[in-house]
Amino acid sequence: MAFNALIVEKDDAGKTSAAVQQIELDRLPEADVTVAVEYSTVNYKDGLCIGPGGGLVRNYPHVPGIDFAGTVEASDDDRYKPGDKVVLTGWRVGEAHWGGYAQKARVKADWLVPLPDGLDTRQAMAVGTAGFTAMLAVMALEDHGIKDGPVLVTGAAGGVGSVATAILANLGHEVAGVTGRPETADYLKSLGATQIVPREELNETVKRPLESETWAGCVDAVGGAMLARVLGQMKYGASVAAVGLAGGAALPATVVPFLLRGVNLLGIDSVMQPYENRLRAWERIAKDLPMDKLEAMVQPATLSDLPKLGADILQGQVKGRVVVDVN
Ligand code: NDP
Repeated sequence: MAFNALIVEKDDAGKTSAAVQQIELDRLPEADVTVAVEYSTVNYKDGLCIGPGGGLVRNYPHVPGIDFAGTVEASDDDRYKPGDKVVLTGWRVGEAHWGGYAQKARVKADWLVPLPDGLDTRQAMAVGTAGFTAMLAVMALEDHGIKDGPVLVTGAAGGVGSVATAILANLGHEVAGVTGRPETADYLKSLGATQIVPREELNETVKRPLESETWAGCVDAVGGAMLARVLGQMKYGASVAAVGLAGGAALPATVVPFLLRGVNLLGIDSVMQPYENRLRAWERIAKDLPMDKLEAMVQPATLSDLPKLGADILQGQVKGRVVVDVN
């Protein structure tokens, strides 16, 4: 039976275009579990895969959507049976493999995680890859010990930043959110931020390798010059979880904060996370992310909204989390 999917095509001149089309089940890639997708979402990488590709998409036509939640419809793997609720993030789904911007997806059982108790499929996608990664970042900071004092979240009004802010505040940390959108201050405060740091205060390149010791930890979605500045402002022995590159991939920093202040720079990857750690992160999300705060981040969307939303997220113009109802 035909179903709807957002298909990205590439013309002979190399230009991509995305539109909702009806396709047949036999066009889905070979894999062991077929999922009736209920919700997907919009992450920064999705913006690239809906639009210019960013070197992530290998073949066209392509169905983007790096994450989804839904119900198993058919399974050749013992771990899953029809009716099971599942969530998928990472494994290059939506990039190298067709993803969640469709009413059906076919994926490897190894890539799925059972929907955690306490979350429904819509909430799981309100969290999505961005929120899952925010949780991984918080867990990494905890594993290295969060100092006393404010924890900084950069790119705070974005997806990773919003979820990190809400989780950290709920865990009892004082949260300072860096944003380039002053109009999001009330939103960030509603998520639990107690301090708003204007982006311009932190996006100038490092002039002094060490500044005053200010931050007890940091979840950084921005990278670039901002991450370099933040390293020099960390308290002695504190850690920065490096999640994203919304502000650039370069790191124009010095090693001085590592050598003189024992600062830790922790790399966070959500794509290849081992299964056990995925389960741990989803369980922590169900426990430590207040659902009313999550709901406050949500902006609903449908498949046909995706071309615009993909462009918006690349411009840093999406606030919080978009939940795409694919049906
Ligand atoms: P969003 O676009 O939702 O959030 C990014 C935020 O960064 C923006 O909302 C904006 O926040 C800020 N920002 C944007 N451009 C700039 C800039 N030029 N300088 C400074 N700040 C800027 O994206 P996501 O939250 O989904 O993802 C954030 C980053 O994390 C991306 O780079 C993404 O690729 C990465 N990521 C990495 C993962 C991993 O596995 N490591 C997984 C998921 C995401 P504000 O308006 O508040 O300033």
